[in-house]
Amino acid sequence: MVIGDSDSDEPTSATVPFLSEENEILKVEYSFLGKSGTKAQRDKVNTVIKTWALYAHITFELVENSKMIRITFKRSEGSSSLVGEGGMAALAEEGTMNLAGVYETGGIAKELERGDILHEFGHALGLLHEHQSPERIKVNEKAVYKHFEVGRIRLLTLERI
Ligand SMILES: [Zn+2]
Repeated sequence: MVIGDSDSDEPTSATVPFLSEENEILKVEYSFLGKSGTKAQRDKVNTVIKTWALYAHITFELVENSKMIRITFKRSEGSSSLVGEGGMAALAEEGTMNLAGVYETGGIAKELERGDILHEFGHALGLLHEHQSPERIKVNEKAVYKHFEVGRIRLLTLERI
């Protein structure tokens, strides 16, 4: 991908995320690691990730053993995902994304479940948190940390905030 200045008003690969120079649609393969997830959890993921296609030239394909994204649903570990191609470097028998906030039962994903899925897939696609951008706004970090404290108990670790 070439990133550079352009006199044209046409969107370029630098301004349209994940749009290749050939206007190709990026196909991202994912799988559920081993027997991870109930049918409800898997259905929620399969449905919710289609939202990404509305904002980027991406399609997702569910495969047997994805080299890119392998999903687990471990409730005790919190949600996380390896970022971008980092997932490709993980061992094939290990998950690259954990969706702790997606419940084992229930029909259509609730807002928190949707948020969990879309957030972690954003990481898998190579996106970082807004506050990790060099263009970030200056925030009063002390005030943010204080917001997440209740008494002497910190609700989130500094890394999770
Ligand atoms: Zn995150």
